[in-house]
Amino acid sequence: MLELESVTKAYGNLRALKEVSLRVAPGEWLSVMGPSGSGKTTLMNLVGCLDTPTSGRVVLDGVETNRASRSELTRLRRDTVGLVFQRFHLVPHLTALENIMVAQYYHSLPDAKQAMEALERVGLADRAKHLPRELSGGEQQRVCVARALINYPKLVLADEPVGNLDEDNERRVLEFFAGLHADGTTLVVVTHDPKVAALGQRTIVLEHGRIAKEAA
Ligand code: ADP
Ligand code: MG
Repeated sequence: MLELESVTKAYGNLRALKEVSLRVAPGEWLSVMGPSGSGKTTLMNLVGCLDTPTSGRVVLDGVETNRASRSELTRLRRDTVGLVFQRFHLVPHLTALENIMVAQYYHSLPDAKQAMEALERVGLADRAKHLPRELSGGEQQRVCVARALINYPKLVLADEPVGNLDEDNERRVLEFFAGLHADGTTLVVVTHDPKVAALGQRTIVLEHGRIAKEAA
């Protein structure tokens, strides 16, 4: 599903990733841990086609992203990967339901019934008509999860998806991920919490831009 070959990402003199090689099999759930500044988000940005490596190769669903055309990259971003990143915010003047339908629109056709089902799966059916500012932080994060996954991406990338959620919201999001995993979705999840990491089949630990440890 995903392969990194000796990937380096430099920001000026700073190498945020140093010759990282990694394979993730279809259907695998990989956990990524490591201290702040170790390169976790940089890794996720490269895999999510939000950024390009300074050197090395990223192959996503059979496509080498450095060589892909603009239209191939658009297709990968839209159809193949679902991003659960904290910096992707909801559109403030659209309801929870409409925020999800926007993602459907970019993919294919908006479908209110399917969008509603996605809200149900994250336990927010009764909040469909609320605006983001009328939702708690945890509820907004769950709408983001529903939105990222509405188009059934093959690969879900989550960067500290439960980092600032209370226990109840955390449990709902993690149950949702477990359901995706059971359906064969590939997951790469960045977390600081060993309990969350243990839900994956394999954990890599980044330190100073390198894979310092790998455990099954
Ligand atoms: P993590 O997610 O593990 O906390 P990051 O991948 O965000 O780490 O950052 C890794 C290193 O790269 C840090 O030293 C960070 O300051 C640096 N970095 C990240 N993004 C940029 C950027 N856009 N420009 C310059 N330096 C960056
Ligand atoms: Mg980060």
